[in-house]
Amino acid sequence: MGNSSSLQNDANGEDIAKYLVPPPMGGAGVCRHCRSWASSGGDVCHNCRDVKAALGEVWPVVPISLYEKPSELRDWLKFYKPSGGDEYDPAYGVKLTQILARFLNAQMPNIEEVWGAIDGVCVVPSTKGAVPHPLCGVYECTNAGPPLLDVLVRGKGPLRHRFAHRDGFECTSQGVGRRVLLLDDVYTTGATAQSAAYALKSAGYEVPGILTIARRINPDFTPQVRSLWERCSADDFDFNGTFI
Ligand SMILES: [Zn+2]
Repeated sequence: MGNSSSLQNDANGEDIAKYLVPPPMGGAGVCRHCRSWASSGGDVCHNCRDVKAALGEVWPVVPISLYEKPSELRDWLKFYKPSGGDEYDPAYGVKLTQILARFLNAQMPNIEEVWGAIDGVCVVPSTKGAVPHPLCGVYECTNAGPPLLDVLVRGKGPLRHRFAHRDGFECTSQGVGRRVLLLDDVYTTGATAQSAAYALKSAGYEVPGILTIARRINPDFTPQVRSLWERCSADDFDFNGTFI
């Protein structure tokens, strides 16, 4: 089997795109930083406001897909890690590799056109778990995108679900202007990924933005969130579509 066809479809010949929901590109009620729902028809969500207050800056986020709980994508993202316990399934990591490889092959030229040339990719470290992060293995299996850089470690600052912190992470080397794309599996409040971007910038790296496989949406939160979710999930997912 050729490499491209094995990446297009899984063993059942099924297109993985049907499990994905394209993120909104903007407009009223969409956060311009993280592409989630923003209250009162504004264009910055309350999570990004909290990040800005803590870090002084919010780095732009490109989600590959939105997801809700429960969903197959949510299970892949939760249980591809060996720390997923009884429900850990290595096949889920293969699914994530397929998604990421197809996205990088289709979209890296567009990302570099908007964000400039990227020298490396840095995975947001886990706040408590394994080193290296399982997403590093997923990324390396894509055989796509810029080289992986291993320069971030957990810092002394507390990182809780909603609270970004300037000392949440630290860098093991100086960036001297190297341009790094941050990569995460899931983006929820942004507290972790945005704190990682802050640490990279503080060490002299340029961080044009954060790429995440999935952005959590809770359609039960308000009718406005449900409306955004329904609007996005009505569209077919296209790896060659517009993401940035
Ligand atoms: Zn936001």
